[in-house]
Amino acid sequence: MTRIDLHTHTTASDGTDSPAQLIENAAAAGIDVLALTDHDTTSGWDEAAAALPAGMVLIRGMEMSCVGRGEDGYPVSVHLLAYLFDPNHSSLAAERKRLREARRARIATMAERMQADGLPIDAERILAEAGPAVGRPHLARALTEAGVVSSVQESFQHLLSPRGPYYVPMRNTDLGSAVAMVREAGGVPVLAHARASARGRLVDLEHIENLAESGALAGLEIDHPDHSAPDRELLLKIAHRYSLIMTGSSDYHGANKHIRLGAFTTAPAQLDAIVAAGTGVEVVVGE
Ligand code: AMP
Ligand code: FE
Ligand code: FE
Ligand code: ZN
Repeated sequence: MTRIDLHTHTTASDGTDSPAQLIENAAAAGIDVLALTDHDTTSGWDEAAAALPAGMVLIRGMEMSCVGRGEDGYPVSVHLLAYLFDPNHSSLAAERKRLREARRARIATMAERMQADGLPIDAERILAEAGPAVGRPHLARALTEAGVVSSVQESFQHLLSPRGPYYVPMRNTDLGSAVAMVREAGGVPVLAHARASARGRLVDLEHIENLAESGALAGLEIDHPDHSAPDRELLLKIAHRYSLIMTGSSDYHGANKHIRLGAFTTAPAQLDAIVAAGTGVEVVVGE
C-alpha cells in the first residue's frame, strides 16, 4: 500500500523538524509520498529534496494564508494548499514575500504587547531564531518554555486566540485571487481544513462552491485531524458535486502538535490527479 501524506510543516514555517529531519521521520513512518507545505514559503524545498531516500517521492508545495467569506458574511482566515507551482512565478512569489513580512510584523507586535504586560517574552530573539515564516506557534513555544502555559495547545486556548488579549490580525491574500495565482503558476490549489471549527469561525460553504463551480479550485482537504465525521461528509458531498480532488493528510508540525505523520492519508488516484494538473515543477523522486 502506498502511504501518501500531503500536508506537513518544518522549521521553514511553524513546524519543529528541519526539512531533512521531516524526510527522515517520514521515511521512518513508512510514508512513500510526502508533500512539504510550509506556510507562505518554499524555502524548505531544496533541503527536503536533497534528503530524500531512494524511491521516496516529494511533492513540493506550500500552505498560503488567505482570507475568505465567513459563514457570518464577514472575512475569515482560510488556508490554501498549493502543489507543484513554479516558485519563480513573479506575482505569486511577491505575494508570498508580502505574507512573510506581514507575519513578522504581526508576531513582533503580539510579542511586544506581551512584553508590555510583563510576560517573559523576548520578541527579538523569537524573530531571530524563527525561519522565514514566523507564526503564533513560535510565541506558543516561547510561552511554554517560559512556564507561562503548560503546552502549545494551552496557549492557543486563551493567550493567542483571536478572542484573546494579544491577538493582532494580519492581511491575508484574498482566497479567489490566491486560487487564480496558484493556477497561473502551474500549481494545484486545494482548500485546507475548511471545517476546522476549533480554530474559530468557518468559511462559507457557498464561497467554496463558487470557487469550485468556476473550475478554479482543484480540490478539498477532507481527512484532517481537525475535521469531525459529519464535516468530512459535508466536504465529500461538495467534492463529488464539483468533481474535486479529495485529499487526506496529517498537517504534521513536529512537536508543536500531537498528530503523527501519516495519521491521515490520500488515495493514490487523488495524488495522480494532482500530479496530472500540476505543471509548475516536477515531482521529485529520491535516487
Ligand atoms: P498563525 O499562522 O500565526 O495565524 O498561526 C496559526 C498556526 O497555529 C496554525 O498553522 C497551526 O500550526 C497553529 N495552531 C492553530 N491552532 C492551534 C492549536 N489549538 N494548537 C496548536 N497549534 C495551533
Ligand atoms: Fe501551522
Ligand atoms: Fe493550516
Ligand atoms: Zn498546515
